[in-house]
Amino acid sequence: MELRLGVIGCGAIGQDHIKRITKKLTGARVVALNDINLAATQAFNDAEKLGAKVYENYNDLVNAADVDALLIASWGPAHEEQLLACVAAGKPVFCEKPMTTSAAGGLRIVEAEVQHGKKLVQVGFMRRYDAGYRALKQTLDAGTIGEALMVHCAHRNPSVPEMYVGDMALTDTFVHEIDVLRWLLNDDYVTAQVVEGRKSKHSHEGLHDPIMVLLETRKGIRIDTEIFVACQFGYDIQCQVVGEMGAANLPEPQSIPLRLAGRASDGILMDWKQRFIASYDVELQEWIDDTQRGEVNGPTAWDGYFASATAEACVEARRTKGIVPITIADKPAFYNR
Ligand code: NAP
Repeated sequence: MELRLGVIGCGAIGQDHIKRITKKLTGARVVALNDINLAATQAFNDAEKLGAKVYENYNDLVNAADVDALLIASWGPAHEEQLLACVAAGKPVFCEKPMTTSAAGGLRIVEAEVQHGKKLVQVGFMRRYDAGYRALKQTLDAGTIGEALMVHCAHRNPSVPEMYVGDMALTDTFVHEIDVLRWLLNDDYVTAQVVEGRKSKHSHEGLHDPIMVLLETRKGIRIDTEIFVACQFGYDIQCQVVGEMGAANLPEPQSIPLRLAGRASDGILMDWKQRFIASYDVELQEWIDDTQRGEVNGPTAWDGYFASATAEACVEARRTKGIVPITIADKPAFYNR
């Protein structure tokens, strides 16, 4: 049976998701929309000929009888109250990252879901659906390089808009590494440290770029990540896991190696949307299929909470210039099922 979806937040990624659900994926139809910008949402609804009902109030959309499941792609600070409304209505919900902008908010989602008695929330950490990360995880799980000891990562963007300031490198950008590395290593983090690099002249006002994050896991694995969001040269995601017997790298996105005009070269992507475009499709198709079966098999509310708590510890580590313990609540047995 086709899933009737309501979408809250119809900005950049909300529109992308609606288009992929409507034009590429199977098993779901967008029937309801909500955004604080009503006029733009109505215009999008008309331009895409969605025929969806546009709601002024997200609560009315969540509780509409003809909406089976929700997709939240509003801005981060609005996620918590919108998610709580979905859980209160007992409806499955896919929420873009970050699940919440605070650890306490993340825990409130976890508690609400446990109280409800059934998993409803999935978080949009799409890297778990990337073919390269999946291949890397298979290699690690097979024991090919032995036990993981260290991980070296880089998250580079060519540039970021003026509104990207302060700690967004940690809360908006690094949050992807936070989730995918926990999943890759089957491990949790215990401490965080953040050091600022020599400031690039391309850092705009309100941004110190690049920075380096150091995480330590429960098993003692050390992870270093360079976050360089105005690197100029490309959207470049690197990950190398060093094990007891060898090292395994995240594969580079496919590009045609050129030998041209006296040079041998490979392309580097410039646009983040291109890098993970296939994983968004896989992520949402799997979510639709799982939701139809009444299951949540992707990143859970617990993973969303863990990511927010780790990002919060990173922000604190940056502020204090110290090594900050990552304090996590007891994991409800509910999430081990
Ligand atoms: P965006 O273009 O600013 O879209 C957010 C939309 O939500 C805007 O239309 C905004 O309206 C609207 N909005 C804000 N508050 C709202 C509320 N209370 N209720 C309903 N709508 C509300 O941002 P975006 O790039 O699409 O990002 C949206 C979310 O997706 C963020 O959490 C972001 O971190 C996440 N994201 C994830 C990925 C990924 O790789 N997984 C990539 C991009 C974005 P106004 O424009 O009027 O404020």
